[in-house]
Amino acid sequence: MSVLIDNQPSVFNSYPALESELLQPAWKGSNCRHEYGWDHIRLTKQDRCAYCEKVYFLKELKDWFTMALDHVIPVSVCKSLEIDMTWCRSTANAVLACSTCNTLCNRYVPLTLPQKPESFQEFLKLRNAIFLERKRLIQDAQSREEKVFREQQIKFAALKATH
Ligand SMILES: [Zn+2]
Repeated sequence: MSVLIDNQPSVFNSYPALESELLQPAWKGSNCRHEYGWDHIRLTKQDRCAYCEKVYFLKELKDWFTMALDHVIPVSVCKSLEIDMTWCRSTANAVLACSTCNTLCNRYVPLTLPQKPESFQEFLKLRNAIFLERKRLIQDAQSREEKVFREQQIKFAALKATH
């Protein structure tokens, strides 16, 4: 069966359309770069961080090292909502993220607990909504951090100049 969702974030457009493929477990084996991350790239054609969209994992070795596979709807949220764990751990709920983005939003908890999705289609809609919210939070956190970084750079330059 093929699953169609309107207005889904573009990162999911290259994911397989077949429900049976979307439901494949995404975390197989223990090594992201050698096993499940690479499997995810093959299956979804995703090759860059889903959140910042700036890090391409197959261009530079230093970026390859930062590759993580992230649960869009976190495991804790899936558990609170009693969501089927095969959905939680499926390819549909996985995106590649650079370690920076992965660190910035790995304690995400929705402000209000959403309704339990009763079908896989509803699960995908919830995934889309949570993805967009987390993407916004991560990008905001990066902007704030960049501001601090620029300020510290200037302060450090001034500090060095005084010696
Ligand atoms: Zn990123």
